[in-house]
Amino acid sequence: MSAERPVVGRLAPSPTGLLHLGHARSFLLAWWSVRARGGSMVLRIEDLDGPRVKPAMIDAALRDLDWLGLDWDGPWLLQSSGLERLRAAVTSLAERGATYPCVCSRGDVRAALSAPQQGDVELRYPGTCRGRFESLEAARATGREASLRFRVPEGRLTIGDGFAPPATFDVQAEVGDFMVARRDETPAYQLAVVVDDAHQGVTEVLRGDDLLPSAARQWHLQRALGLGHPTFVHVPLVVDENGRRFAKRADDLSLSELRERGVDPRAVVGWAARSAGLELPERLTPREALADFSLARLPHEPARLGPEELAKLKSAR
Ligand code: GLU
Repeated sequence: MSAERPVVGRLAPSPTGLLHLGHARSFLLAWWSVRARGGSMVLRIEDLDGPRVKPAMIDAALRDLDWLGLDWDGPWLLQSSGLERLRAAVTSLAERGATYPCVCSRGDVRAALSAPQQGDVELRYPGTCRGRFESLEAARATGREASLRFRVPEGRLTIGDGFAPPATFDVQAEVGDFMVARRDETPAYQLAVVVDDAHQGVTEVLRGDDLLPSAARQWHLQRALGLGHPTFVHVPLVVDENGRRFAKRADDLSLSELRERGVDPRAVVGWAARSAGLELPERLTPREALADFSLARLPHEPARLGPEELAKLKSAR
């Protein structure tokens, strides 16, 4: 990390569900990491992140962030408002031959793989349409809609991290050529993240370590688009007493619910600060933790939030 480059961090919630305590912790860490160095923070609402986007969640996320006491600089960006910019990036990849049209459905991909895959696992794209069509028109002439896939370079890639140990991925072997534009021409998630991070001048991406594999895909896209790489900082997630991450069953732990119950947001901030290795009062504002914050104090294990501490948070009025 260069000392001269002003730090720009980001909060990038996807409005696919209510934000919960796990999000609160990651967002606070992102904010602390940047603000503690006098950096700026931008907000982006990632409403292109998959089919589960619910517009009502945008307002809820904005209210939750405000409730927590987090702020950002300048107007926030709604990802779908920048479709032109995202499409231009897709076109520029296509013009460089870095993409190809693909008419495979999820069922085709599944059928082409030898090992049976069940549930919600990500399927490796086996490259069925690589080299198959001269152009998008030729692909569409099959009578099927076509997506665009990114030709992922072969080989291993080690991603350095500002907190997690370096992690090695072979995106081609693990995921294969992933989509950069869906069949309806919507820019796909990884592409949108990379283009918008560059557009917003983001230099530090601090987020949960469930997104480490995304960093490798994003790195390849950044290189193909001639964009710089931000500093990645992947932090452990919040888990319950059984070690399960919160995301899947977040309803009773949602920030909206805590807010509506009249919980003091400073208690949530205090919990997050203590979970980050800071010895601070039980209740405080994000800004009051700034002077003490250091990533060096953050534990490398997941943050365990057991029933007792949760009950305490829920009744912290
Ligand atoms: N919007 C994504 C999420 O909420 C984060 C995007 C990213 O950090 O790449 O999971």
